[in-house]
Amino acid sequence: MKKIFALVEHRKGEIRDVTYELLTKGRDLASKLEGELTALLLGNNTAQFAEKLKPCAHHILSVDHEVLKDFNAESYQLVLSDILKKESPWLTLIGHTASGMDLAPALAQELGTPFTTDCVEIDMENDNLIATRQMYGGKLNAECKMQNASSYILTIRQAAFPQEPANLNADVVSFTSPLAQEPDYRKFVEYLEAAIGEVDITKADIVIGVGRGIKERENLRLIEELADSLGGVLACSRPIVDAGWLPKDRQVGSSGKTIKPKLYIAIGISGQFQHITGMKGADTIFAINKDPNAPIFNEADYGIADDLFKVVPILKNKIAEMKSN
Ligand SMILES: Cc1cc2nc3c(=O)[nH]c(=O)nc-3n(C[C@H](O)[C@H](O)[C@H](O)COP(=O)(O)OP(=O)(O)OC[C@H]3O[C@@H](n4cnc5c(N)ncnc54)[C@H](O)[C@@H]3O)c2cc1C
Repeated sequence: MKKIFALVEHRKGEIRDVTYELLTKGRDLASKLEGELTALLLGNNTAQFAEKLKPCAHHILSVDHEVLKDFNAESYQLVLSDILKKESPWLTLIGHTASGMDLAPALAQELGTPFTTDCVEIDMENDNLIATRQMYGGKLNAECKMQNASSYILTIRQAAFPQEPANLNADVVSFTSPLAQEPDYRKFVEYLEAAIGEVDITKADIVIGVGRGIKERENLRLIEELADSLGGVLACSRPIVDAGWLPKDRQVGSSGKTIKPKLYIAIGISGQFQHITGMKGADTIFAINKDPNAPIFNEADYGIADDLFKVVPILKNKIAEMKSN
């Protein structure tokens, strides 16, 4: 029976979305391969997390120790290498997040385990594990056939897999931490939160995101007016921040904010995964992009494939007309 492990990622007492994505994919693989999925839970007071995770896995392997309260790649590596040596899972899934990127390569190197990063799909071909990763900004999918081994580690791109509900009832197995204190050479100090600007885009019900398609700073006024007419707030993709047209606290995405508004309107945004990660949780997504093949349309519930400079003024007028009636 194939053992599949997925590392639980949590921060400030909250399980992060990527955990549920790993668990969804892990269950899918476990069912195809007649295996079982174990959630690897490292932390302090892990019972709070275990209760939430029970439906999502067959087993929870919990290491509860105060030194594991906050993520420290060195501590995690010491604990995980001990677990993986003893448990010998066939596959270990770790989020391709800042924490996962810090931890997974060193862990794989220490264990001598075949390793692929930033995977967007995992398949089997005969007995070979195939990990798909994207290249050239998502224009090309590379299928990596892993060398035959008894164990693999993969990091999984955020938002590559959905978070699906499940109704398993995991047993919780406690594992004693081999670590009594954080390593001297690297300690968790504190979380530094980005300052919240005059507008908190994470709290708004309607967010209008503008991307490079807007072309010039002066054109932002058009989108601002649309946002005002809808009672929404203006957000953006990273190039708009890089250009200095909007402050960093308006950036949506993997290196910006994660938002879950009722409505997200993406205007002139292509839909690269770094952006999608930050807005896929919106209830409704509406995209305007002149390129009908733009990846944003794969995420959108509604879309208009046309020039934003034509569409936005029409929308604005229509909204004004509806308001005046
Ligand atoms: C480590 C890292 C972290 C990153 N973090 C983030 C992040 O947090 N957030 C983020 O957004 N990006 C992030 N990025 C950048 C990301 O990879 C993309 O480059 C970025 O999201 C693209 O922004 P865009 O869609 O505005 O621009 P583009 O990809 O250039 O897309 C512009 C779109 O506008 C459309 N368009 C052009 N003219 C018009 C018109 N007249 N009418 C309608 N549509 C038009 C085009 O068809 C195109 O699809 C990150 C990248 C890296 C490497």
